[in-house]
Amino acid sequence: MHGQPGPTEDERRWNSVVSRDRSADGRFFFAVQTTGVYCRPSCASRLARRENVSFFETTEDAERAGYRPCKRCRPDQSSANVDAVALMLKACRFIEASEETPPLAQLATLVGLSPEYFQKTFRKLIGVSPKEYAIALRSEKVRQELATAESVTSAMYSAGFNSSGRFYDNAEKILGMTPTAYRAGGRGMNITVTVSTSWIGTVLVATTARGVCSVLLGDDARSVLTDIRSRFPLATFRDADSNSEQLVSAVIASIADPFTHSTVPLDVQGTAFQHLVWNALRQIPPGETRSYAQLAASIGRPASTRAVATACAANPAAVIVPCHRVVRADGSLSGYRWGVERKEQLLAREREQSETVDQIRSRGVVR
Ligand SMILES: [Zn+2]
Repeated sequence: MHGQPGPTEDERRWNSVVSRDRSADGRFFFAVQTTGVYCRPSCASRLARRENVSFFETTEDAERAGYRPCKRCRPDQSSANVDAVALMLKACRFIEASEETPPLAQLATLVGLSPEYFQKTFRKLIGVSPKEYAIALRSEKVRQELATAESVTSAMYSAGFNSSGRFYDNAEKILGMTPTAYRAGGRGMNITVTVSTSWIGTVLVATTARGVCSVLLGDDARSVLTDIRSRFPLATFRDADSNSEQLVSAVIASIADPFTHSTVPLDVQGTAFQHLVWNALRQIPPGETRSYAQLAASIGRPASTRAVATACAANPAAVIVPCHRVVRADGSLSGYRWGVERKEQLLAREREQSETVDQIRSRGVVR
């Protein structure tokens, strides 16, 4: 050994923590004595004091020493999961670009995974199987055909379904009602209604010629349809057209990935104050939350916290107007029109994806 000794291993690790070096992620973990939490080197949380920090080779070592995983950087979730999200999104784009449902083996080869593992991962991360994803996409075509086709059978064939049996098996799930009922309507204002299945449950998207007038979440098609009819009792529910198809696709894409589509045009009814609050909600970036007081302050009405909370609760467009990003001042979840459990799931997924997006961007892959 010659000259000055280089930095020790722990000094190098500490430097990585200080610079939040993503390339160090996975090589070690650091734990903070005062909080009892361990993190990845790149964790965005406030920097701890050096004397309270210790280093571990593995998450198991950190947990054996009594530390809990950080809720922000999720060191206990493997970064393979992050790569998998990028791969599954690649498969989604491929399915979208294909005329017919690509065979499972072809999709698996595309992303370099075994068919079984691909299928399992896709379902876990996207929320439906690759086949269901393709069916949901083609159902857009079915709706379009139903409006003009001579018969349901020809609509079915031109949309790529092979037998009536399969179409009818899928019809309720796809359309939220039987094909015949799908043609039926009410009276009054012109609204298109589309029901689809997403990772967060059943989603109903209602549109007018000007934009999305409602997005409702529920456990099944029946509940969301009952809900929309009670909201617009005098409406004429008409068939989808290319305008509504585009709006629905944008809403569904935004639910699948809040980082892709941020500006879906809205045609929602409300008071001027409600519009002010709903617009402010749309300014909260995905992966972040605000308190009611912060939201009230952001619209210049710091004394109107209660009225702001009431306007959030009256939000007619779930997810698209992200009222789920408002939490209590102490960070705990307050109520949610579509269930606190869904609110929790939406926020957890956004946090996870925000981490994914950061990592994908930092590697210069995709987007
Ligand atoms: Zn952390």
